[in-house]
Amino acid sequence: MARTSHRTAARAVEAQRRIREAGERVTTPRSAVLAALLAADHALTHHEVEEALAPVTPVDRVTVYRVLDRLVATGLAHRIPGEDRTWRFGANRRGPGGAHAHFTCSGCGRTVCLEETEVPAAVKVPRGFVPQRIELTVQGLCAACR
Ligand SMILES: [Zn+2]
Ligand SMILES: [Zn+2]
Repeated sequence: MARTSHRTAARAVEAQRRIREAGERVTTPRSAVLAALLAADHALTHHEVEEALAPVTPVDRVTVYRVLDRLVATGLAHRIPGEDRTWRFGANRRGPGGAHAHFTCSGCGRTVCLEETEVPAAVKVPRGFVPQRIELTVQGLCAACR
């Protein structure tokens, strides 16, 4: 138990450091939401963020939405579109910059960041086409669903 709370405190400190380094003001909801993203082993939906915070630092739904948008805008987190039309959010553990691939489990819908796999910066498209966004998603089964 003591170990868990110690780890939680360490994550809060880490979240606050990242927020400060991004030139943002540290607020309780910002640090709680980012700490939840850093703690998660998969990308979280708005709802999952709310649920993760509830026992420790309850943050209302509207604030969760606003904070997640802000974290994305400042490069502290990124959003991943889901096949179920639900956005999922992950902390930018390696800082802002190069986009990475994601793994989505067709069994449970869990989405995991594949930070080792970069998304190509450019792809060849037909003449006259303008790429707007490149995403790389690997579909498969997670260890639990396999
Ligand atoms: Zn699964
Ligand atoms: Zn990711």
